[in-house]
Amino acid sequence: MTASPIAPHGVHLMPCDITPYRAGNTGVDYVTTFDSGRPGPHLMINAITHGNELCGAHALKFLFDEDIRTTKGKLTLSFANVGAYESFDPNYPFVSRFQDEDFNRLWNEKTLDGPRRSLDLTRARELRPVVDQADHLLDIHSVEIPQPAMLLAGTCKKGAALAKGIGAPAHVVIDAGHAAGKRLRDYAAFDDPDLPNAAMLVECGYHFFPEAVDIAIQTSLRFLNHFDALDDATLDKHLDRSAQPDQLFIEVTGPVTIETDDFVFDRVFDGFEIVPEAGTLIGTDGGNPVETPYDNCVMVMPAREPVKGKTAVRLGRLVSG
Ligand SMILES: [Zn+2]
Repeated sequence: MTASPIAPHGVHLMPCDITPYRAGNTGVDYVTTFDSGRPGPHLMINAITHGNELCGAHALKFLFDEDIRTTKGKLTLSFANVGAYESFDPNYPFVSRFQDEDFNRLWNEKTLDGPRRSLDLTRARELRPVVDQADHLLDIHSVEIPQPAMLLAGTCKKGAALAKGIGAPAHVVIDAGHAAGKRLRDYAAFDDPDLPNAAMLVECGYHFFPEAVDIAIQTSLRFLNHFDALDDATLDKHLDRSAQPDQLFIEVTGPVTIETDDFVFDRVFDGFEIVPEAGTLIGTDGGNPVETPYDNCVMVMPAREPVKGKTAVRLGRLVSG
């Protein structure tokens, strides 16, 4: 394990071998569907939407190897951006996030149906019919600096309801995603308030801490259990019932977009700090002050390094779930 100069928090988790799951049984590489033979929802758990977010691959390996199967409906386990995952290099641990472009900005129908080509888009198009069959989705991610785990619930009420049903991690972020393109969790029916299909994105903390794997596994079990799809023996053996946090729901009001090459935070933010007073200085951008716009402003997902044109941090308000 190395402390890469470009990963100051170190690389304490490595990819696991996922080649045993390549063949699958769906006709799509790295996608497996288990059919319980009983009526019920089709639940899907997806990993490595981002190739260097290793915890999801470990969590799926656990679900496969421990024979975690649902007692009703279907369970699909999928590894998304395998090409990116396979290129992982611990000396450059952030490079393998994607191949040509961010896989998690491609989930607009227009983009998927359009003529554009890239390695990531090819994989998204392969995976699309699988996603189309799922009633509910859990998409496993992690983040680039150490910070608390969180659920990203989207903006539909059904997303917040699913977050409540899953019950942990404690922080639930209600956000609309990215202007650059739709996330898998916001694809089609998942983002349609009139349809029951719900999706959840879990950020399991820092990419390269082993604890991220435990969070990914527990969130997967909680997701399946929310749909009452696991038997008691499985739950007794694997589910950590002690973690029953009071969830905090945070509605993102907008990003702080970096305008210059000289953005500096006023202090270190680890994520989910609540800044009590409006007008508090949180950083400077080209010498101009950046201040909180309202009282009790929550700092959501501060960036690893400020890059002009990108998001420094998202600002949010506490709301009732
Ligand atoms: Zn991600």
